[in-house]
Amino acid sequence: MEPFIRNDQYNFIRDQIQVLVNGHTSVNDREVLSALKSLVLEKSINLFSDIKSEQLIMLNRLGDIHRKEQAGEYLTQLKQFVIPFKEISLNSLKKLWPKVKKLKMPPLDDLCLKETSYLGWDDAGSQKKYILVYQDSKPIGLQGHFTPSHKKGICAICNKLEVVGMFLTEKKGVAEGTFTKRGNYICHDSAKCNQNLTSLKKLTEFVTLCK
Ligand SMILES: [Zn+2]
Repeated sequence: MEPFIRNDQYNFIRDQIQVLVNGHTSVNDREVLSALKSLVLEKSINLFSDIKSEQLIMLNRLGDIHRKEQAGEYLTQLKQFVIPFKEISLNSLKKLWPKVKKLKMPPLDDLCLKETSYLGWDDAGSQKKYILVYQDSKPIGLQGHFTPSHKKGICAICNKLEVVGMFLTEKKGVAEGTFTKRGNYICHDSAKCNQNLTSLKKLTEFVTLCK
């Protein structure tokens, strides 16, 4: 079976399994548990349009999970079917940011490409954050001035309460020589942000606003 699950979908399923395990820990009523199982299965399967039978068999197995250890084993197996983030060369990165002289490479070795919906990395020297995301298989690069806040706030990309910073972008205005500044609070730790993502909706909105 080929990989068919995106990082955000994997995270969504992980959270649904947690709901199921919590249910089995706290509820004894068989009917309630059966309804919970159906709901968790339905939500997980509905993530995929045009699902193949072998994929469905794999997903249906999550309904039998009762305990934390089973969840761990299942998620390890499911991870094999996660689509990894497409690696990129320094040359392709340079094309995305032609004006940046000394472009820092993202820390590709340090992160698991299967846990990545977008790559975000900091250049502490210039106080910039770079973001690389694919839309319709095309790479899109964003860069912004990043000011860590060291405080918790809601991240504009994952929508979770995390330690955030202000990501400030500048766009050329309609009139010549004018600029529009746009600021968004986003997770300081982009790897954590990727693990929080359970949908691509906010990420897509964020990219549309900033590009
Ligand atoms: Zn985030």
